[in-house]
Amino acid sequence: MRPTGFLYKCNDCGREYSTFGTLYLCPWCSPGNNNTAPPKGVLKILYDYEHIRKSITDFTDLKDNGFISLLPIDSIKSLPPLRVGNTPLYPLTELDGSRLPFSLRIKDDSQNPTWSFKDRASALVSAFAKEKKLGIIVAASTGNAGSSLAGICASQKQKAVIIVPEKAPLAKLTQIIMYGATLIPVKGTYDEAFELSVKATEEFGWYNRNTAFNPLTIEGKKTVSFELFDQMGKTVPDRIFVSAGDGVIVSGVYKGFEDLIGLNIIDRMPVIVVVQSEKSDNLVRNTGKKEFTVIASTTVADSISVDIPRNFYMAQDFIRKYNGETLTVSDDEILKASRNLSGNTGLFAEPAAATAFAGLLSYMKHGRIPSGSSNVVLLTGGGLKDLKTVGPMLNMPASIDPSIADLKKHLQ
Ligand SMILES: [Zn+2]
Repeated sequence: MRPTGFLYKCNDCGREYSTFGTLYLCPWCSPGNNNTAPPKGVLKILYDYEHIRKSITDFTDLKDNGFISLLPIDSIKSLPPLRVGNTPLYPLTELDGSRLPFSLRIKDDSQNPTWSFKDRASALVSAFAKEKKLGIIVAASTGNAGSSLAGICASQKQKAVIIVPEKAPLAKLTQIIMYGATLIPVKGTYDEAFELSVKATEEFGWYNRNTAFNPLTIEGKKTVSFELFDQMGKTVPDRIFVSAGDGVIVSGVYKGFEDLIGLNIIDRMPVIVVVQSEKSDNLVRNTGKKEFTVIASTTVADSISVDIPRNFYMAQDFIRKYNGETLTVSDDEILKASRNLSGNTGLFAEPAAATAFAGLLSYMKHGRIPSGSSNVVLLTGGGLKDLKTVGPMLNMPASIDPSIADLKKHLQ
């Protein structure tokens, strides 16, 4: 059991809320929201660090108890029976035959049950719903969050309704149906699917898993930071490359390390390098700007194709507070990075995930990674989820006769 309670704190007005029930956006800030700008009132979950410090001696204590002190649920037994998180961290010492002058590790979150990072958030939302006996969980999704919620709910015998833009990749839609969730494709964008799911929550009383709308999505994603710290021998990396769409994974990574700072387990924040596609850069381009402007997203990396980043303000605050860095890469760089990563490591990532690796390659090209520094690239989803995008890059060989003569000819 968790040793203390927790609070929700509005990222924008700072008001704090204490409730055992469901809470989405800050009731004070959210009435002014509209669909032309990122929502205000996203809530951050706060714990009584001082009290937790008294109940643990070190990080191992936290880990041995499944980090329950830092989760907004009553028991880790409410989490799904599947292995969520605890994904591999692979060291990479060379690229294209050249030894790297710095340390590089790849955190492969495509090894989650539904092959994406989103399982971390779905697991926590599902556990919360189980404890509160909330019947149906709804999510709007570009694909991964929906397929994740569908899979996690199947494992927990919960009902899921997934609302997606009809253009979502086939693999993700297939997953949702195979897991037995109710799939609702809408003629429209992710933002329209999002609005519909919120209305459905109001109309039918369904529990809503929408990213950033439900504060547990940020909380669930932070567990990756605990794992990184643990897997790196209880050290903090210098730099973590994270691809971004809504800014929830970025915020989650920050929140995990912020919790560890709050507990005096670590004393510094890694530099988070936030990477977006040039063709979907609404988070990066608007960071630090007075007015938020939207440019319609057209990137091939569907999971990070976002017009209105749902967690823009929190991500921006984290980036500013902890001196995070931002950059954009071209879609061409993303696809090349995906191939480079696959060929160098055996890890085939979807374009949205390869975006983080493209960010690393761009930093390398411009000499921005100091020798001897320690760096991490976060891979958020597997390549089989979106084969269509890499299709044009493939030179699919023509068939040969099954003879040595033809094989020899082919090999020439
Ligand atoms: Zn507020």
